[in-house]
Amino acid sequence: MGKPTGFKEFTRRLGGDVEPLVRLKTFSEFHHHLDDQERRRQGARCMDCGIPFCQSGTGCPVYNLIPEWNDLVYQGRWRQALDRLHKTNNFPEFTGRVCPAPCEGACCLGVIEPPVTIKENECAIIDRGWEEGWVTPQPPKTRTGKRVAVIGSGPAGLAAADQLNKAGHAVTVYERADRIGGLLMYGIPNMKLDKSIVQRRVELLAAEGVKFVTNAHVGVNTDAKKLRETNDAILLATGATRPRDLNVPGRQLKGVHFAMEFLHANTKSFLDSQHKDGKFISAKDKHVIVIGGGDTGNDCLGTSMRHGCKSLVNLELLPKPPDQRAADNPWPQWPRILRTDYGHAEAAAKFGHDPRVFATATKEFIGDSAGHVKALRTVQVKWEKAPDGRMNMVDVPGSEREFPADLVLLALGFLGPEETLVKQLSMATDERSNYKAEYGKFATSLPGVFAAGDCRRGQSLVVWAINEGRAAAREVDRFLMGATVLP
Ligand SMILES: Cc1cc2nc3c(=O)[nH]c(=O)nc-3n(C[C@H](O)[C@H](O)[C@H](O)COP(=O)(O)OP(=O)(O)OC[C@H]3O[C@@H](n4cnc5c(N)ncnc54)[C@H](O)[C@@H]3O)c2cc1C
Ligand code: SF4
Repeated sequence: MGKPTGFKEFTRRLGGDVEPLVRLKTFSEFHHHLDDQERRRQGARCMDCGIPFCQSGTGCPVYNLIPEWNDLVYQGRWRQALDRLHKTNNFPEFTGRVCPAPCEGACCLGVIEPPVTIKENECAIIDRGWEEGWVTPQPPKTRTGKRVAVIGSGPAGLAAADQLNKAGHAVTVYERADRIGGLLMYGIPNMKLDKSIVQRRVELLAAEGVKFVTNAHVGVNTDAKKLRETNDAILLATGATRPRDLNVPGRQLKGVHFAMEFLHANTKSFLDSQHKDGKFISAKDKHVIVIGGGDTGNDCLGTSMRHGCKSLVNLELLPKPPDQRAADNPWPQWPRILRTDYGHAEAAAKFGHDPRVFATATKEFIGDSAGHVKALRTVQVKWEKAPDGRMNMVDVPGSEREFPADLVLLALGFLGPEETLVKQLSMATDERSNYKAEYGKFATSLPGVFAAGDCRRGQSLVVWAINEGRAAAREVDRFLMGATVLP
């Protein structure tokens, strides 16, 4: 519970960031950490509210035991805090860095004061654990003789592999990319999650007995049916990798790319050669337009800024959110308010204004004589409620604008998993084209084949992928052994 009077004595303090214009010079992480004493004070702010919404379904999707480890942080009992944290979260060093922290939106202190710094406390516990050498390989004492193939190595696949290995099964993770980690490796850029942190956890899993096979594209260069024959169970954790397109005139022009083409190549080139191989789409000296917000859009902004773009505009279809919770968005719901993420702050610091242009739809990409994009034509939109209650988007007459553009990045969301495995295995999909598998059971239409993470629930969050990976592992274990003791 922290200190009974802590929330009255101490105000919320965050570690803070390296100044935008300084951090732009590198792809390094830029978040500062509070010193030990101040971190303990932040733990002390947890106020024994009695009903911790933060650790319920409204708050943390992996049900982290937040008040317990806040109290342990306050007491400086870091080792015990780490043990409590690992009970529910396989990878707190990832969520401690990239989670949007729905827990904080549901924190009871947040009703009257700024909430407890739950996410930073989590990160401090696990970072301390690694520094002190407390996170060590814990291979299972006995093996069951059962074999499981996990397809896809994002947070869902890794969490499931960790749990299934702990249960004593022989787990092999197949990943089509050349590095393990899914979007932790090739989606979220290095400045938000340093890749050595992902690699460190992968190496720990390997030391515990999980096998990893990279460049194994199941359904393309690795036979899915054969994997079924040679394993006792399969878990699909292939992510939601089909990007939503924007089919307006000029879409075929050079210089218009999906966000993931840009982000994947950027991180790969950075890791392979510190960008010396030139195998990435550069934003240097370009007028860049990012269409779409969210984490993906913001990561495109931050990456373009680091390349040295000439200008940056971020188009959003929705209107600007309010600064405070609206009346229909009360605590403990996730606050739907205007957030200024790192990419917005960096663009504002360099160009003097927030890059976001709200309530704007793209009508056309305009090209030059060489077939390269040179501008974007847009129109302002307003959202009107139809008689059936649905919101309709309507163009505002006379609001057309043109933006110069040398590079356009489409960050419009994802439409579920690719179809390769669905076709090859004749698997059922749901109405949103995700693998059909009920939450809680995770079983697909094929016996012994399970699904978890974004490929099952649609595009989501790292913390939800961990939730699904853990829960699906339980069901795979039950399928293999008839019962399960996995948490
Ligand atoms: C740019 C970007 C930034 C994001 N930032 C955040 C953030 O800050 N915070 C947050 O919480 N969430 C963020 N997200 C969302 C989060 O990354 C995802 O919800 C999460 O990674 C989903 O995990 P997953 O394991 O289901 O799938 P993924 O992480 O997508 O992993 C799936 C893996 O499966 C592999 N694969 C696919 N098909 C095959 C096949 N046939 N054979 C072999 N391998 C295959 C893919 O190569 C991939 O590596 C972000 C997403 C994007 C795109
Ligand atoms: S995983 Fe996310 S929601 Fe859960 S405690 Fe950490 S920051 Fe909060």
